[in-house]
Amino acid sequence: MRDFDFEDACVNCSACVSVCPVYARDFRFPGPKVLGPEWWRDSQDSRTEGQTSEFVDDCTFCQLCEDACPVGVPVAHLIAEHKRRQAKPARYRWRDYLLAHPHWIARFPQITRVPRKWTKVLGLSTRTPWPSPNRPAKVTHDLLVREKSMRVGVYGDCYTEAFDGPVLDAVIALLEAWGYESIVMPGAGSCCGAAAYAAGNAELGRRIASATAERLRRANGDTVDLMLTLNATCDSTLREEWPRFWHLSASCEVVPFTEFALEYAPLEFWHLLQRLSSDKPDLPYYVHTTCRSRVSRGTGWMEQIGQRARWTVKPLMLACCGAAGSYAFKAEHEELAREMGQLALDEGRVMTDSGTCALHLQGMTGLKASHPAYWLYKAYREAQEHVKVV
Ligand code: SF4
Ligand code: SF4
Repeated sequence: MRDFDFEDACVNCSACVSVCPVYARDFRFPGPKVLGPEWWRDSQDSRTEGQTSEFVDDCTFCQLCEDACPVGVPVAHLIAEHKRRQAKPARYRWRDYLLAHPHWIARFPQITRVPRKWTKVLGLSTRTPWPSPNRPAKVTHDLLVREKSMRVGVYGDCYTEAFDGPVLDAVIALLEAWGYESIVMPGAGSCCGAAAYAAGNAELGRRIASATAERLRRANGDTVDLMLTLNATCDSTLREEWPRFWHLSASCEVVPFTEFALEYAPLEFWHLLQRLSSDKPDLPYYVHTTCRSRVSRGTGWMEQIGQRARWTVKPLMLACCGAAGSYAFKAEHEELAREMGQLALDEGRVMTDSGTCALHLQGMTGLKASHPAYWLYKAYREAQEHVKVV
């Protein structure tokens, strides 16, 4: 078991229970207090050794419970340990092993095109949309700044590299236009270990993370000033979980793309976007800050992006959209995942800082959903065309 602090500090206030999105919808789910600290106390008793709950795997590992705890109990991490000790039905073991290795899927993305009748047999969801391998067309744009002032790493997480080519290319194109040299690191198909850990396989998660940390160390050297992340879960795993629980380091400063854009995109860029917004007002952006991002960085970053570009921004007040990494792809969680992401929205687009959340919300709303980098780059191209015409 991991070396936690405050695991025995629970004062029974139930703040964690009040924020749990699964508890709010599933009356069978015992909730974070029972599955985390109460189970942990039981597990210390050699007579009971903590009887496990058949519902523990329904936790999405959103960490909202942990964030709400006033005394710092690592609630979600205790639940992850609880998951580890709960025996999984045999029919799900292979599936879970595969989903705990998203970097394998990223190396062979065609695997997601398996016929639906087979996915059912494997215990995979049948209604949740699956990602398709994709690469965008070659991008072209005018540079705003020609002098390269900084070398920036981009963490090529497994999902973005395999399934969100347009997002990755938008980031590289924007960095180039803003005057930064970029390098995708640490190379194809890397994983931060979050998927394995969230599913209750801490040891496997640690091994995957260690291998990625070593690849990053070799890729980094002293060559990049910082590394951008494009997925909130990878971001908080690299910055917070790695040093705290696995004594690992990303070998350089890690910054979400959104915050980098707010700090380092040149003023001319924002002026272009503002001009387009005032000349041609467009559809609103519905913003979903993912649960892991909210816990790690707080809300408001994507809203600031929208405000700076003078877009109409409408925050979606979802606790967790239900995607939760591979959660929505599992047959037994599919209905709950869909319920959590159920939304009726008017015309617009969805902006969110996770590829799997974007996929899930696109399926649930019927609106195009993507990362802020994708929307920024799209608007930038339109703005360049617009100023050439007028
Ligand atoms: S991690 Fe999220 S889903 Fe799991 S118990 Fe905590 S609040 Fe509920
Ligand atoms: S919020 Fe913290 S102290 Fe309160 S019940 Fe949950 S784990 Fe216990």
